[in-house]
Amino acid sequence: MGFQDFLGNPQAVTALREMLARDGAPGSLLFTGPEGVGKKTLAMMLAKALNCERLKDDFCGKCFRCRKAEEMLALTREDLARRREIKDASRRVEGLTYFDIQLIEPITRFILIEQIRQLRSTAYTRPFEFPRRVFILDQAQAIHWQAVDLLLKVMEEPPETTHFILVCPNPHELRATLRSRCLKLQLHPVEDSVIQSVLKTERKIPERSLTLATRAVSGSVARAKRFALADFERSRQPWVAFLDGIAAKDLSALTAADWKSLFEATKTLAENRSELEQTLQMGYALLRDTLLTLKNGDEQSLMNIDLIPRLKTWGARLGLEGLEKLKRGLDEAYRLQTRNVNQQLGWEALAIEIISGRGVTV
Ligand SMILES: [Zn+2]
Repeated sequence: MGFQDFLGNPQAVTALREMLARDGAPGSLLFTGPEGVGKKTLAMMLAKALNCERLKDDFCGKCFRCRKAEEMLALTREDLARRREIKDASRRVEGLTYFDIQLIEPITRFILIEQIRQLRSTAYTRPFEFPRRVFILDQAQAIHWQAVDLLLKVMEEPPETTHFILVCPNPHELRATLRSRCLKLQLHPVEDSVIQSVLKTERKIPERSLTLATRAVSGSVARAKRFALADFERSRQPWVAFLDGIAAKDLSALTAADWKSLFEATKTLAENRSELEQTLQMGYALLRDTLLTLKNGDEQSLMNIDLIPRLKTWGARLGLEGLEKLKRGLDEAYRLQTRNVNQQLGWEALAIEIISGRGVTV
């Protein structure tokens, strides 16, 4: 157990270990980089390494403090989950207590001012059990604006034994004053070889689908760890049917069955609102791939490499104009996703718009 278990981003890990070796871990750090590359995982590892009894630039996972740290993190996660379930907003932040190693995440859409107040009052006391206290603020971009100044004040006069690790995909979403207080550690998408080994060993993805799966998770270890080929294909299928429908060869000869299958696809796309974001991302990925093949782009950057002949057909028949309409439809759906609108009607209208744009009266 230790940093060697962290997948990808070896430069970032080395930088942290060097910092630890010379007792140079700063009071405030910002871990940034795309979703699913392990920013929070690495922050939790650093919290342990700062306290491990046996190792200086790593953590053993076995000593009392390493085990205790794990327990604290598990308890904070349970506490956060419990609070998110509380209906009465004012009671969600009742009785907050923070451990020496504390994960702070949004309870509502925000990290609330009460959470930061609790951080401040804890930060200026001596750590209870550990030599160093570590506050991990995950999704730091969600810190409520009213709480940012409060956090800034604490970070300006940081208590000696306390470290703050802000975790945030895009640092520009943070207020500049907050950002400038922190030493930034940039994480990158994880290299294909690491992703492939996760997909092979943990997800048992067969060799023939490995490239597709690797591209589908685009450098995210978290996504690789939960990737299922069947789910991927299931969520892609209605898009394939939709595109097959709007890019049919002979539109005037579209049969009742063709229309039925097209509208079934729009129905499936609109179902399952909780996965709408994912649905839309799949749509965007297919659109991007189709555009790439239309412009004879590099096949190395296609995600849906198993669909190349189809992508070419869609591109040739829809043309730039049709694809532009498709993009506008996706953007519109993306914009409306949080509202309770009937997306199926939107997809149907889009299909009809594209088909009639290809010169057929429907
Ligand atoms: Zn240890």
